Amino acid sequence: MAIRKLLIANRGEIAVRIARACSELGIRSVAIYSEADEYSLHVKKADESYQISKDPLSGYLNPHHIVNMAVETGCDALHPGYGFLSENAELAAICEQRGITFVGPSADAIASMGDKTQARQTAVAAGVPVTPGSEGNLENVDDAVAQAADIGYPVMLKATSGGGGRGIRRCDNEKELRQNYERVISEATKAFGSAEVFLEKCIINPRHIEVQILADSHGNVVHLYERDCSIQRRNQKLIELAPSPQLEDSQREYIGDLARRVARQCGYVNAGTVEFLLDHDGSFYFMEMNTRVQVEHTITEEITGVDIIKAQLRIAAGEPLGLKQEDIGYRGFAAQFRINAEDPKNGFLPSFGQITRYYSAGGPGVRTDANMYTGYEIPPYYDSMCAKLIVWSMDWPELIARSRRALGDMGIYGVQTTIPYYKQILEHPEFQAADFNTGFVEANPQLLEYSSKTRPESIASAIAAAIAAQAGL
Ligand code: ADP
Ligand code: ADP
Ligand code: MG
Repeated sequence: MAIRKLLIANRGEIAVRIARACSELGIRSVAIYSEADEYSLHVKKADESYQISKDPLSGYLNPHHIVNMAVETGCDALHPGYGFLSENAELAAICEQRGITFVGPSADAIASMGDKTQARQTAVAAGVPVTPGSEGNLENVDDAVAQAADIGYPVMLKATSGGGGRGIRRCDNEKELRQNYERVISEATKAFGSAEVFLEKCIINPRHIEVQILADSHGNVVHLYERDCSIQRRNQKLIELAPSPQLEDSQREYIGDLARRVARQCGYVNAGTVEFLLDHDGSFYFMEMNTRVQVEHTITEEITGVDIIKAQLRIAAGEPLGLKQEDIGYRGFAAQFRINAEDPKNGFLPSFGQITRYYSAGGPGVRTDANMYTGYEIPPYYDSMCAKLIVWSMDWPELIARSRRALGDMGIYGVQTTIPYYKQILEHPEFQAADFNTGFVEANPQLLEYSSKTRPESIASAIAAAIAAQAGL
């Protein structure tokens, strides 16, 4: 049941990434776009493209409409990417009803693992440790307060269907828990359409370690080692590393095995990620499973040589993995920098607008997965991530040097980006010594103080002013 034509139910860089995998496999790709995305790169990279909506979001978020489009355009498969409907069980179910191969796990697996409290139960059933937490979802604020007293402060109040680092608040005492309760519920309702929340013990400054898994429909489940996503701001990842420079091989094998157990427990098929928190005493706790491709899948591709998107397509087509755990190795280190159109000097405020000039990074070990080009106008309606800079090196010191060089290579003008901030992080002795946790960004506010970058426009106007001055104008 080979896939011949595939609809990409997403936009931006991940849609471009999927179109590239399709192209290499000889699969015809179909892009969908909102009016605001008419000039998005994914529209140009796919073989065919169709406007799905006038307004910026409704088209990307309507599963019926999208599957209709797939059927009408003669597609036999659909890839959801990440974000949008990628963890929407209904989309997977509609695909199944309409005879479209969904490139992802079953609707049941999405529903059970997308719900964080249910996912915790699955992990427990698989014999995988979870952080102490509430028994399922909370009934009301008094229930929250009562359960928090048992768990012990600080606690994390989390949206059960949350994602993207939103719908999570740390509460250090009862007063904060009472204050945050309605806030998190309202955030969760707005962002995820669900008011359900639960509590977890807050691990102070843990490391975020996640394991990439691949599972086929023939019962094979393998892991592709881990990624360290501890460099975060407000629970959102900024820099990701693979493998984690902070783990021993024995820890690596241990969590790889835990992740495979979680996947087997829920009968998982396709690519997925099992996220863990690593406490200071060396304990790992299951946190959640993402039932889709992740933003940072790229670095795992770099160290293992496995093309994860192609693997997803082959698995969805019913092919066996053709890989055994012992066949999978890794080489060197890889880092991914999320290049966001945000101003780090100004509270990471989004900086949308036109890319007046763009120079991509290149050279050995450098990969750029981007959604921009010179002249592209970043629409204000979507995620601020405009590129992912991925750097691979044989060893950790070279990775630092190469990353520094590659970030210097990359030139994005017209909008502010997180590049200057990442350059500062690379100079930090703790980062260089591979000793950091999720508290790193907050603990180092001084890294935000750097001189603002010089833009070619301002150089040009400075030269013009100097010439004018010389000419006595
Ligand atoms: P990853 O888990 O792949 O590292 P992120 O957590 O940064 O990625 O999420 C990637 C994108 O998907 C972001 O745009 C984020 O807002 C969106 N997203 C993630 N989870 C959800 C969710 N449950 N509901 C809606 N959007 C989500
Ligand atoms: P999302 O679905 O938004 O990715 P996660 O449950 O994966 O949410 O949590 C996102 C981040 O929040 C983690 O990477 C971690 O930094 C922080 N976090 C989540 N739960 C805890 C916890 N119990 N203790 C400490 N930090 C946590
Ligand atoms: Mg997560």
